[in-house]
Amino acid sequence: MKPNKRGTVYLVGAGPGAPDYLTLRAADLLGRADVVVYDNLVGEGILEHFAPGARAVYVGKQAGRHTKSQEEIGDLLVTLAGKHDAVVRLKGGDPYIFGRGAEEASVLREAGVRFETVPGVTAAQGASATAGIPLTHRETNASVTLVTGHEDPTKKASTLDYEALARCGALVFYMGVGRLAAIASALVDRGLSPDTPAMIVRNATLSDQQTVAGTVADIARRASEAGIRPPALVFIGTTVSYQPALDWFSGRPLFGRAVVVTRARAQASVLSDRLRGLGARVVEFPSIEIRPVAGKEREKIDRTARSLSRWDWIVFTSVNGVEIFRDRLLALGLDARAFAGLRLVAIGPATGERLETYGLRPDFLPSRYTSEALAAGLPAKVFAGAPRFLLARAREGNPQLARDLRKRGARVSELVLYDTVPARTPAGPVKKRLRDGTVDAVTFTSSSTVRYFQERVGPRNFKTFSKKTAYVSIGPVTSQTIRDLGAEPAAEARTHTIPGLVQTLTDYFEDPARQANQK
Ligand code: SAH
Repeated sequence: MKPNKRGTVYLVGAGPGAPDYLTLRAADLLGRADVVVYDNLVGEGILEHFAPGARAVYVGKQAGRHTKSQEEIGDLLVTLAGKHDAVVRLKGGDPYIFGRGAEEASVLREAGVRFETVPGVTAAQGASATAGIPLTHRETNASVTLVTGHEDPTKKASTLDYEALARCGALVFYMGVGRLAAIASALVDRGLSPDTPAMIVRNATLSDQQTVAGTVADIARRASEAGIRPPALVFIGTTVSYQPALDWFSGRPLFGRAVVVTRARAQASVLSDRLRGLGARVVEFPSIEIRPVAGKEREKIDRTARSLSRWDWIVFTSVNGVEIFRDRLLALGLDARAFAGLRLVAIGPATGERLETYGLRPDFLPSRYTSEALAAGLPAKVFAGAPRFLLARAREGNPQLARDLRKRGARVSELVLYDTVPARTPAGPVKKRLRDGTVDAVTFTSSSTVRYFQERVGPRNFKTFSKKTAYVSIGPVTSQTIRDLGAEPAAEARTHTIPGLVQTLTDYFEDPARQANQK
């Protein structure tokens, strides 16, 4: 093969599944690779770290589909390196632990392709941390052995020395689910005590992590009773007995709960991250998209931005509004000085914080984060002399705010910054889960998320789904929209913010009365 001088292939470990356990180096490379060649066990959340324009090439095994042979993968990497500067070869866990990373590196070396290896958190470490099974412990084991339960099937005799393994302090079997019964009995036959603790950890580090506890004598039976399928690890050894005391993961308040997030994709992450941090399985189903206005309406924003001094107050009713208005200011060559002399109102803390990141401190934040509270909460002296208010808002925003401000004596101009339009992501998978009742809650952060969610799942479904799934709303206006469309919110946030919504959701699922009802 002729030497190849162009790109570098990075053999990168993706870690055990949860994107939080990517290394900084891996995240950095993923963010700028031209091509990413990846396979199974690279968690869904990790795909989101690929650079927006990157080509993603899947070479993993999938039932019924042709699998690329190791040789084909090697050839592919060499070819790609000839065309691109940075090629990431992404593998679950660590590339050099049961990952065939070394074989691929050798192929690259032979072809004269530069490569670099980036370690990853291997599945055993991930599972160790999240299930709570120390890999070593002063009191029980001074060594740990990582074993493959799936040897090369063409080998006649096992190369594993079960006698030696039976004497090891702690064992972790990768790819051992299918042969678990044989593995366990081989260990017991070679002298391992049948009551040695054992534990299976499936989908370690992910929100659907599953564990099955037992002993080496009964773990195979228990695993098959629980219907455990790969990917799973089998831990064997006294170290497993620490697990109940070290499990922090499955006790988190939303562990195992599937929660739908209906916010626009660009904004979902704050809510999704918080929910995931509490253990929830987040299903992002953006029902809306934010679309900045165009044409004549955009020209109106520009005229307004150039003459802000015509107003006394400017009210921002959403983070999106702040962002879009700021984008226009910058596009016009203006900056924060355009607000000089103006007083600023933010409808809630998130909007206020966004203004602050741009060096603009709101003069007023209502005590409750609703339009009514905003108009009612401004002190009377504000309205002396018919001040001019500019309402920078969404077209679909609550029209009541302008009326309320006018009633109090303000002269109000409204400036439409964006439309909230139905999102175009496919609705099928989420509808199926809602129909099957495998979703615990749907979160609604505005009336428009309710309306477009209803439109996307269908009016009848909207009502019937709410009987099995808790609709949780951010505040009274959103709740009212749920009721207007024929369903009943299960809970409403007391504080009308994202943290308030998350707190309410957590309280809801921890409520002992509700749990008793369910049983
Ligand atoms: N290179 C990878 C291992 C690849 S072998 C690493 O370092 O982790 C594939 C096996 O890894 C699976 O069959 C399973 O035993 C294990 N595995 C990978 N991810 C896992 C996860 N999230 N939970 C449990 N086991 C996992």
